[in-house]
Amino acid sequence: MTDDFIKIDDTLKELADNAEARCKEAFERVDEICAYNEQKVLSAFISCKVSEAHFKGSTGYGYGDRGREVLDEVYAKIMGTEDALVRHNFVSGTHALSVALFGVLRPGDKLLSVTGAPYDTMEEVIGIRGEKNGSLKDFGVKYDEVSLKDDGKIDYEGIKKACADAKVVYIQRSRGYSLRDSFCIDEIKKVVELVKKINEQVIVLVDNCYGEFVEKLEPTNVGADLIVGSLIKNPGGAIAETGGYIAGKARLIELCSYRLTAVGMGKEVGCTLNQSKGMFMGLFFAPSVVASALKTGIFALSLFELLGYDVYPNYNDKRTDIISAIKLGDADKLIAFCQGIQKGSPVDSFVLPEAWDMPGYESKVIMAAGAFTMGASIELSADAPLREPFAVWLQGGITYNTGKLGILMAAHSMLSKGILKP
Ligand SMILES: *Cc1c(COP(=O)(O)O)cnc(C)c1O
Repeated sequence: MTDDFIKIDDTLKELADNAEARCKEAFERVDEICAYNEQKVLSAFISCKVSEAHFKGSTGYGYGDRGREVLDEVYAKIMGTEDALVRHNFVSGTHALSVALFGVLRPGDKLLSVTGAPYDTMEEVIGIRGEKNGSLKDFGVKYDEVSLKDDGKIDYEGIKKACADAKVVYIQRSRGYSLRDSFCIDEIKKVVELVKKINEQVIVLVDNCYGEFVEKLEPTNVGADLIVGSLIKNPGGAIAETGGYIAGKARLIELCSYRLTAVGMGKEVGCTLNQSKGMFMGLFFAPSVVASALKTGIFALSLFELLGYDVYPNYNDKRTDIISAIKLGDADKLIAFCQGIQKGSPVDSFVLPEAWDMPGYESKVIMAAGAFTMGASIELSADAPLREPFAVWLQGGITYNTGKLGILMAAHSMLSKGILKP
């Protein structure tokens, strides 16, 4: 770095150069996948004949909104599915996942999670936590879980035993906020093949959050029946302002659309207001934004490994999601790290994040998120619960150079508090 618009310690800068230099191969892999996915996305836009008229949103019932229909077609093409449901009306990834589960499960059915405990917010949807509140459990849907093995890997033998009577097999691709591995497309393929051999009728549903465009294939390209994600993560390309998507088999998408709107109405209604252009444009940018987020994360993993910390995954590992975790070891370091990320953000850089008692969490949590869109974790952001193992999870970075600076600001913040030794 030659300029000093932003002050970073010299020793740290030198270390950063080394950290970046050894990422060369990992970055080349990211670029290669990005080029592949950009071509895939562009060709979908071309074959679906996306046109300016599709960007003009509708109001009221939203009957005959061509933009909405074409966006569904573009997503279906990219994800390799029969149909898709892409709506700004999904308030979050959890909502889209909830709609998908309530859409396809019926009383007496069994939902089987095969990648251990699902993401925190899904516990109340499923009914693992909470009573008589309209959860799946409250509606008579049974839930079972195949835990991951002690080494964090998928328990294929356990799945074999448990999947015969499942209606839905649930896979979470990303590590979420745990230190387990994320599951790559090859592993998802293995699970799909295994469960379909035992139970042909089973619906394989993948929580694809943070996974889109990280590999060349998506879970639906290897046999998953439904995938679900959030538009303020990867596929929204940091431009979509809110929303989510479900992609998969046509009949299943129809059932999901009945749950999102009303039975019988489904996909025919739902005005797009002024959200369509952002969803199209964000999708177009998504592979490249995901690549920047990946490089930002890879750089952080490389730098903090050089600084002597345990990192998850390793900077040179094959990736299937954009989350990186660093075990910093104590609360002061987590706080300094997150405050540094915030200081290096384009929005609200002057705000000092503090640890707080976030609803639903056992311990205090500190978060850094100086984002253009509230809560958008495709933008550089970091979260850390102040408890063992004192790890920070970071994700996003919509351009690599600014993402890298954010990471350097985090390290600089620790250094200036005297709790980092470069
Ligand atoms: C983000 C995420 C979700 C959904 O979270 P929202 O905050 O509701 O969008 C679900 N699963 C995983 C793995 C996630 O990363």
